[in-house]
Amino acid sequence: MTRLLVPAFTALCLLMMLAACETTTSGGAVGGDRKQLMLVSSQQVEQMGAEAYAKLLADSSRKGVLNRDSAMLQRVRAVASRIEPQTGVFRPDAPGWKWEVNLLSSDELNAFCMPGGKIMFYTGLINHLNLTDNEIAIVMGHEISHALREHSREQVSQSMAAQGVIGLGAALLGLGQGSADLAGTGYQALIATRFSRTDEAEADRIGLELTARAGYDPRAGVTLWKKMIAANSGGHPPEFLSSHPAEASRVQQIEALLPTVMPLYQAALGRR
Ligand SMILES: [Zn+2]
Repeated sequence: MTRLLVPAFTALCLLMMLAACETTTSGGAVGGDRKQLMLVSSQQVEQMGAEAYAKLLADSSRKGVLNRDSAMLQRVRAVASRIEPQTGVFRPDAPGWKWEVNLLSSDELNAFCMPGGKIMFYTGLINHLNLTDNEIAIVMGHEISHALREHSREQVSQSMAAQGVIGLGAALLGLGQGSADLAGTGYQALIATRFSRTDEAEADRIGLELTARAGYDPRAGVTLWKKMIAANSGGHPPEFLSSHPAEASRVQQIEALLPTVMPLYQAALGRR
């Protein structure tokens, strides 16, 4: 790049970053409309997510660990189908996403929802913590909220901004590479993600509202996190917990929100 072009390029980058601050969601009752830096499109991240998810499904199916427990699969799909229509409160496009829910037989205490609504639950989480449907709904609402808020897209954008926009963007999205590479990159960027404390707190808040609106008891948020804390004290912090720090402050945030979300739960019960 010539010397003359450098300031122009820098200005262009700044302009892109200014133009790129947006919010993915409306606030709902709990507030979920913080402005975010977005340098990559939803479509690009969703494509990356869809490829990574398809690869995980194919690999798991080959290993014979996909959707083996049909009763449990039915439970998680039933919970998801009640929460999905409620996502419209936060973003009108979300109920129309190509939602997918699958179950992986694994001892891992894990669950995730990729951008665009691709959900995976791990049997270990439900079995080891003996989760009720209400508690499954809390986990589901939390994971779906990461997708609604596009936290992965924000994280990819922040790395791009930190490392000089365009080159890394192309690398992250695997442009010019084969689809196997794209899926691999997508897995790293989207599934193995460590979200920030801000992201986790947002997902807890929005998730709690989704859960309540779907007619699941939001008080299960308290019992769920207590089970998580107990599981964590065994000395082997599971994957799910290392990315979801189970602090007492988290339980406190949920308890503080109960007066806001309990009426939504009562109203949902009245409609059922
Ligand atoms: Zn989370």
